[in-house]
Amino acid sequence: MDDRRALLTLTTDLAAEFLDTLPDRPVHAQANLAELRAAFGDTLPDDGTDAATVVRELTAAAEPGLVASAGPRYFGFVIGGALPAAHAADWLTTTWDQNAAIAVTSPSAAVVEEVAGAWLLELLGLPASCSFGFVTGAQMANVVALAAARHHVLATVGWDVEANGLTAAPPVAVLVGQRRHATIDLALRMLGLGAGQTTVVAADDQGRMRADRLADALGGERGPVIVCAQAGEINSGGFDPFGPICEAAHEVGAWVHVDGAFGLWAAVSERHRPLVEGVERADSWATDAHKWLNVPYDSGLVVTRHPTAHRGAFALEAAYLPQSSTDGLRDPDEWVPELSRRARGFAVWAALRQLGRAGVAEVVDRCCAHARRFADGLRVVDGVEVLNAVVLNQVLVRFGDSDEHTNAVIQHIQDDGTCWMGGTEWAGKRAMRISVSNWSTTEDDVDRSLDAIRRAHTEAGA
Ligand SMILES: *Cc1c(COP(=O)(O)O)cnc(C)c1O
Repeated sequence: MDDRRALLTLTTDLAAEFLDTLPDRPVHAQANLAELRAAFGDTLPDDGTDAATVVRELTAAAEPGLVASAGPRYFGFVIGGALPAAHAADWLTTTWDQNAAIAVTSPSAAVVEEVAGAWLLELLGLPASCSFGFVTGAQMANVVALAAARHHVLATVGWDVEANGLTAAPPVAVLVGQRRHATIDLALRMLGLGAGQTTVVAADDQGRMRADRLADALGGERGPVIVCAQAGEINSGGFDPFGPICEAAHEVGAWVHVDGAFGLWAAVSERHRPLVEGVERADSWATDAHKWLNVPYDSGLVVTRHPTAHRGAFALEAAYLPQSSTDGLRDPDEWVPELSRRARGFAVWAALRQLGRAGVAEVVDRCCAHARRFADGLRVVDGVEVLNAVVLNQVLVRFGDSDEHTNAVIQHIQDDGTCWMGGTEWAGKRAMRISVSNWSTTEDDVDRSLDAIRRAHTEAGA
């Protein structure tokens, strides 16, 4: 026992050292792949090593290759940090080592999902009667939601897809926005719906699906139809017009899925809520807790308006019977692909408890204010252009008038290490994307990063 306690104390000290240096360490990794391979070693050891030595060696090997993406000046992709309470809850989750498969394997894991799931529905403005599942991330949330959609639209025409498969099934028409996230396509591939079989609906200059084009495309549809909309385009942060989309789609009996990995969180803020107007009319939603809620990886949420379809697609057995759980307890596995899995609900619950409703809104509003500060600070620089309407936490920037210069500035920023931003394509041109999603980012972090960007722009030969 003493050994175990000493090991955890050592681990706490190592973790605290990392967190202490996190705000100021270079944001990029410092070791290259060859150095990391050498550090981790290339031969499987024959003999064991005592646990404290393993932890020390692991830390020494991993540290130089870590990215400070949990820190306040990482603005690449869409990446959140870890709120203190969520981080600690995640440690306890590992310590308790509960199997969150069914209520019997861990009543606490089952109930915390029930509670945190209901809180999330309320926070995101979704109907309380919705079903939900705790998944690894928005990718898997898209898979689960579209599996429920597939179940529902085929059941409507009398086809049991879980029993009979897709080979002889009536065709399912899938309509997707031009600027959908790539994980929608992968979900369609995994579900046998064919990423190459979709009808692509044109987007406007902010990446928002054009509802008029959707209505045109839906005009001829009669059979099973699924429409994939989006809250928060990965580059611009733009929102599809959910009201008109749901109206047109529901007229032909289509299922509307919304990928809102980060954008759905606009709903928690009074200022940004208008962006998601009508989103509650959809049939399913995918979102992440590990992005804007700042829960450690991995943590995503899928929500559907149709518990029967959702459960029909995922319950292991008795898929067609009423919920089979003990004492009315919700079995977590009936709503996700996995059976044995991590008890993700604890860390989500802790994040929501630490922040409260007001605190979640503050994180969202603060990140969006930081994004506007970035945009304002860059617009005034000669040769720098902000490409998107900064409606949320995403900013797209172009430097000079060539893709090469933009690439060179991004490389300078990444090498400098003050902050980290990545490149993307927008309107056929290279751009740099800034995403502000971390709870701990301050105005000072934005200003230091603005200095680094301006410096890079000059050094790259503005
Ligand atoms: C991040 C993101 C995803 C994928 O989420 P993961 O958590 O990486 O699985 C899907 N859609 C959108 C819009 C995203 O931003």
